[in-house]
Amino acid sequence: MTAGSGPRVAVVGGGIIGLAIAAELLDRGADVTVHDPSPEGSDGAWHVAAGMLAPGGESAFEYPYLTRLLEASGELWPSFAGRLGDVGYDEAGTLSVALTADDVADCAREWKHQKLARLSGSQLREREPALSPRVRAGAFAPSEIQVDPRKVVGALRHVLKGRIIARQISDLSEIESDVTVVAAGCGTATLTGLPIRPVKGQVLRLRGEPGLLRHVIHGAADGRHVYLVPRADGEVVVGATQEERADRQITAGGVHDLLRAALDLVPGLAEHEITEWTVGHRPGSPDNAPLLGHLDDRTVVAAGHHRNGILLAPITARLIADLVLTGSADPLLEAFAPGRFG
Ligand SMILES: Cc1cc2nc3c(=O)[nH]c(=O)nc-3n(C[C@H](O)[C@H](O)[C@H](O)COP(=O)(O)OP(=O)(O)OC[C@H]3O[C@@H](n4cnc5c(N)ncnc54)[C@H](O)[C@@H]3O)c2cc1C
Repeated sequence: MTAGSGPRVAVVGGGIIGLAIAAELLDRGADVTVHDPSPEGSDGAWHVAAGMLAPGGESAFEYPYLTRLLEASGELWPSFAGRLGDVGYDEAGTLSVALTADDVADCAREWKHQKLARLSGSQLREREPALSPRVRAGAFAPSEIQVDPRKVVGALRHVLKGRIIARQISDLSEIESDVTVVAAGCGTATLTGLPIRPVKGQVLRLRGEPGLLRHVIHGAADGRHVYLVPRADGEVVVGATQEERADRQITAGGVHDLLRAALDLVPGLAEHEITEWTVGHRPGSPDNAPLLGHLDDRTVVAAGHHRNGILLAPITARLIADLVLTGSADPLLEAFAPGRFG
């Protein structure tokens, strides 16, 4: 089959999930069109996301099927990134660090769960000299790496050039296609009635001389949790709050907690410029795992990726393209049926 001669597939939502699915479908011969109100814009959680690819970390105590999906997607990332070009894919890994004795006790559960060897403060500073002398203990998680979601979306938009239409869908019956894939993040709830809720996250972006940090730092400082994601160009993403709210306000408390924890762990960040403060909404489901599969004969859903949508983009694209093009569902999808909440 040549690209574009297969079934007519409409993808609703041009965020990272919709674009990854559309690119995979295009590559496999479908005649695909993406509908999004701002094809060149920055709506969507992907624009705010830090881009940590952490199959073990964030999900450690969650739904076991989710861990399997996260790991399967992590395995696809090297080839997915390789096909897209420079998307900031960086395998330096993560240092999970703890400031106080209480923070160590809190983090130790996760280090144990992930079978990570504990490192002393001085061992951590050998790897990352900018860490505060007050950091007590930590662990190195080599499989928790990073990518730049803005570069990923830019590269996917390029692959899909001419196939992304500026259009907000208000009713799925407006669309003419053989199959429609709804991948509209938080917008999926209104379109389908499925239980997807916005989970607010505030994020700061700082900028300074490149090279202050080499690894992603995931830390606890006096009970405040923060991650610091350093990009090669000197940007450091500082995130994120997690709030069960739909508003877009940047709050004094949110910014204070992020900066306080960031500077407690890496005092050298005090000299960095604050270049952005942004808010995004993670599309959460009742069990915080995605909804992937048929809604009816000609409608498929891929939404509700919550905190892991960047990590889950490659596996979602592959499984949904298989479903659309062959009609058969991979066994991995069973646990994520959109109708599982009754
Ligand atoms: C603060 C924060 C930090 C995060 N950090 C990470 C991280 O480090 N690692 C990770 O893996 N994940 C992370 N995430 C999660 C990740 O960003 C999301 O899971 C992911 O972006 C979901 O992708 P999506 O395409 O489903 O939704 P989105 O990225 O939100 O995109 C949805 C798209 O659908 C469009 N749309 C909505 N309604 C309609 C409609 N009616 N018609 C047409 N189009 C519509 C929107 O315009 C938007 O373009 C983070 C999220 C936040 C908020």
